[in-house]
Amino acid sequence: MKLYLLLKKSIIRGYKNVKFHLFETDNVLIYWPNFSKGILLLGFALLVLMGHLSWYVLNYHSENRIWLNEDYYDYRVFTTYCQILLTVVVSCITFLFRRNRLFRKFMGWFIPLYFGCLLIYSAQTVGIYSPAAMAGIVNILLIGFVFYQPKVIYSIAVIVTVYVVAICYLTSIDVMPYAPLFSEQLNQSNFYKNEFWMKSMAILYIPILIISALFFEILLSQWRRKEKRIETLSRVDSLTEVYNRRYVSDFLTSLYKSKDSKYSVILLDLDFFKMINDSYGHDAGDEVLRRVAKILKSSMRYHDVVGRFGGEEFILILPNQSLQLAVEIADRCRKAIHNEAMLLPNGEEIHVSASFGVAISENGKTMHDVIREADQALYRAKSLGRNQVCFLET
Ligand code: GH3
Ligand code: MG
Ligand code: MG
Repeated sequence: MKLYLLLKKSIIRGYKNVKFHLFETDNVLIYWPNFSKGILLLGFALLVLMGHLSWYVLNYHSENRIWLNEDYYDYRVFTTYCQILLTVVVSCITFLFRRNRLFRKFMGWFIPLYFGCLLIYSAQTVGIYSPAAMAGIVNILLIGFVFYQPKVIYSIAVIVTVYVVAICYLTSIDVMPYAPLFSEQLNQSNFYKNEFWMKSMAILYIPILIISALFFEILLSQWRRKEKRIETLSRVDSLTEVYNRRYVSDFLTSLYKSKDSKYSVILLDLDFFKMINDSYGHDAGDEVLRRVAKILKSSMRYHDVVGRFGGEEFILILPNQSLQLAVEIADRCRKAIHNEAMLLPNGEEIHVSASFGVAISENGKTMHDVIREADQALYRAKSLGRNQVCFLET
């Protein structure tokens, strides 16, 4: 039981680690140097080649042997061994010269080309026009276009295309046999109904499909996360983590457009804030701003908006709230700010205060009218001695 729990825990932890490293960090794959991507490709190449080799050998020693071209089989097994050996040699050379800048640059270009040529050769042995071959070539090229810089991938794509076209042409004029891995019996038959042919297609294509799906999932999850981060950055103030002025304006515009909605605006400005900066430093000022933002956020309802309107000025937007209630909320915030002992980076504790101006959107006022009114009320609160809430009587 204990062993089972331990195993379960390790699997979950492993899964979370893989998920984090593959999908949730921005530097996986797409920003790797071409050389590192090449090393990954060499690993894939070895896996794919060994998969193919086992497939040939297993079937040759089973009743499926009749579907394989005996004359070509030995040659194909030999070439696959050679390819595996060559890939191992390339990997060793890559490892040995991994610190040489010029070599890294060359291998960053050469390995994807080598990988592409290996796959095309495999595709030729099972028929260049077969679905697995065609889909595989398209998939690999697509991944290349996404993960490599245009200069690299276009030069590789040109060479690979010439290679594919040459195979197609030589096959069409019978210089090269079509699908030489398969026996005449299979090639002449209705191979779409042949189980061995179908399985061969799957064996060739499924690894490419899995790799493509994994690569695109990594790419998409990174892209989605970045989109989300950019979206957040565009509406949140980075210092205080409340909404920024742009978001506040958009929100007020949307409220104004939905004509029937009534809302209150509270503007608040910290008192003698310049003095805090001057006496304790800018970092202390920043810390006070962060604390005030936190207090305001915790004092609001879920659908109220707290925003930073300027340097040490905040705005609160309260949809469907009467002036009287807005004034009460503003006073609650004022007390909360004033009562909070603010711990500064230097270890000192200070108390700050803020002045508040409140206005409501009634009587067809535009959002600019409401803000102007709140600003005038705030000005009055300042001139009456600060640390208080004011609104204009109508
Ligand atoms: P009042 O009571 O009249 O509002 O006085 P005040 O000192 O708060 O007003 P003033 O407008 O003279 O000073 C505001 C100061 O806020 C000036 C500026 O350096 C500071 N400030 C603005 N943005 C930031 C910020 O992001 N961080 C810090 N630390 N200070 C800021
Ligand atoms: Mg100010
Ligand atoms: Mg101020």
